[in-house]
Amino acid sequence: MLRRGSFQLKTDDQLRAMRASGLIVSRILDVLVEHCKPGATPSELDALARQLLAEAGATSSFLGYGVHSGLPPFPAVTCISVNEEVVHGIPGGRRFADGDLVSIDFGVEYQGWHGDSARTVAVGEVDASAAALSADTRRAMWDGIAAARTGRRLGDISAAIESSLRAGRRKKYGIVREFTGHGIGTEMHMDPDVPNFGRAGIGPQLVAGMCLAIEPIIALGSPATATLDDEWTIVTRDRSKAAHWEHTIAITARGVWVLTAEDGGEAELTARGASFAPIL
Ligand code: MG
Ligand code: MG
Repeated sequence: MLRRGSFQLKTDDQLRAMRASGLIVSRILDVLVEHCKPGATPSELDALARQLLAEAGATSSFLGYGVHSGLPPFPAVTCISVNEEVVHGIPGGRRFADGDLVSIDFGVEYQGWHGDSARTVAVGEVDASAAALSADTRRAMWDGIAAARTGRRLGDISAAIESSLRAGRRKKYGIVREFTGHGIGTEMHMDPDVPNFGRAGIGPQLVAGMCLAIEPIIALGSPATATLDDEWTIVTRDRSKAAHWEHTIAITARGVWVLTAEDGGEAELTARGASFAPIL
């Protein structure tokens, strides 16, 4: 595999391997979302994810993460963050209730390649502001993905996410700045960071073979966060709800391939006039 600057660039065969990993992520997330209902618990979802991972012959990108940075090893295969929890929630035993806004983040390693994706789920009926927050965060993710193209710059993705959020139903969403998207490949977190805000036309050039996780992490109120005593769970300081959507994408010579979307991103990219360009 080639490296441009410090970025890991994948060959077509390696992108196909990344796609296999991405599809496992997507299909397990489908099942987890289906089970994210009132009365279920995050730890039940995590147990289900462990079982499905084993059946797929894959391992978790999350379990045990953090030891090298001095954190307690992450104890689960999913991050499940409820309401004011922003990211990195440790799945526990508190039952989901009608009106909860739940982000499920899931990462898989399969035959040496990582996939990483997150979805925000409304449990039962959520209030209108929470529904808009999730919809606008999801749209910002897709607008960011649609801005990725060879010859453009990393800042173009960041600027597209930010301007999409500013055009959302609520003008003052809190863009959580300390967590960003990232390069991904033989490790889950690789260079470069992909901030959810920034200026177009700056930053490293996007080239074919780059794989990135694009993941806006957005609060309904202030973007200021705090870490709970478990050293993992991030919450908003003002206790406003947060949403998190994420896909792993590959930049190919002719456009974009969304590795963790069942359709490869075809529907959302085409709707935006962006080029859907899988490696077949
Ligand atoms: Mg993730
Ligand atoms: Mg990620």
